[in-house]
Amino acid sequence: MKRPDWYTSGQGHIWLPYTQMRTARPALPVVAASGTRLTLADGRELVDGISSWWSTVHGYRHPHIEEALRGQLEVLPHVMLGGLAHEQAYVLAERLAKLLPGNLNHVFFSDSGSVAVEVAMKMAAQFWLNQGQRRVKFLCFRGGYHGDTFATMSVCDPDEGMHSLFKGALLEQVVVDLPRNAADEAALGEVLDRHRGDLAGIIVEPLVQGAGGMVFHDPFTLQALRRLADAHDLLLIFDEIFVGLGRLGEAMFACEIADVQPDIVTLSKALTGGTLPLAATIASARIYDGFLSDDPMSALMHGPTYMGNAMGCAAANASLDLFEREPRLEQARAIGKQLETLLAPARYLPGVRDVRVRGAIGVIQLDGPAPADRLSAACIKRGVWLRPFRDVLYTTPPLVTGEDEIVRIGNAMVDAVRELSAENRA
Ligand SMILES: *Cc1c(COP(=O)(O)O)cnc(C)c1O
Repeated sequence: MKRPDWYTSGQGHIWLPYTQMRTARPALPVVAASGTRLTLADGRELVDGISSWWSTVHGYRHPHIEEALRGQLEVLPHVMLGGLAHEQAYVLAERLAKLLPGNLNHVFFSDSGSVAVEVAMKMAAQFWLNQGQRRVKFLCFRGGYHGDTFATMSVCDPDEGMHSLFKGALLEQVVVDLPRNAADEAALGEVLDRHRGDLAGIIVEPLVQGAGGMVFHDPFTLQALRRLADAHDLLLIFDEIFVGLGRLGEAMFACEIADVQPDIVTLSKALTGGTLPLAATIASARIYDGFLSDDPMSALMHGPTYMGNAMGCAAANASLDLFEREPRLEQARAIGKQLETLLAPARYLPGVRDVRVRGAIGVIQLDGPAPADRLSAACIKRGVWLRPFRDVLYTTPPLVTGEDEIVRIGNAMVDAVRELSAENRA
């Protein structure tokens, strides 16, 4: 492929995410994107099967979001949120509070998912500190992923995750398996008894553990965690950065699907429809009230420079308009139905451990680590952009992806795995 000049001259200077810069396949130069399609420098078009890391739910360059961004750019692209107020952030805070169930009414903005989780952890710890209790640790789960910064790394899976290297340097948390039945719940209750007084809360990715391998669990797990949190006076944090905002199809948020009221929720990825970085940590009235006092030191001690960025909030407001006006949840459910049929044949291929679908998430899990470059190349050959990790080849397409394109994605996944198992046997 002929590469553009900016690519050749910049490539010795750019440092890419989770990439062995010495041996990795060169990144594909993208020169434009529209709807579900990426246009490469050589003119090829790929269907984006993973929505740019699960974010572009309405597709690229949706005219409604673009119009909102253009309008905001001309009025007020950014202003600090310390001591100054602007319309987009206030409107978005109210809309998110109304959209989330129960009394999750208080919205703290930041600029990335990891920071939103950092804020949630700090909120939980300071909630107890404000009451004179030093409870700063968390219960978290094997297979979990909550971000790349130091505090969030500490609540990721300590062995399987991308951060095992840093083990000794991280805060020590209490890591257990997700409780999946009554016996697990009782056993976890005993663990919590042993840690009485140390723990601020429980943090979990509700219903789907994403970056940990696209592993699903039932509402029972979350209901059990709510019962345990209540019984042990712990705060329950739902990290909905991946699953929140329609991905699961049944409702906007996993907490609604599971019918569980968390104390704190984090959102990011799809919040701006994949256009600008923005994140939110949303707390219940009880948590928020725990910061109200005459003591300035009881205030939440956090404040990112770009928090509540007006362009980001304008994009998020426009994205929420689209969820209201267009049938995104139905689309997510329809994609799921289609993927179930399309991916089913992979179940019988050698080297395949499991095939599973939940909402607009389709997963082929292999017996061992996925040869990411080979699988990805096989999909690119079929006009589809996918990026396998760990032992899974998965798709999380934009929710606006048409039926034909879902067929293309599903078939590319099955064919890529079939090709791989044929090569492995040869
Ligand atoms: C992606 C992700 C994060 C981290 O978000 P960044 O914006 O990449 O920092 C945290 N939690 C979950 C569940 C995620 O999927």
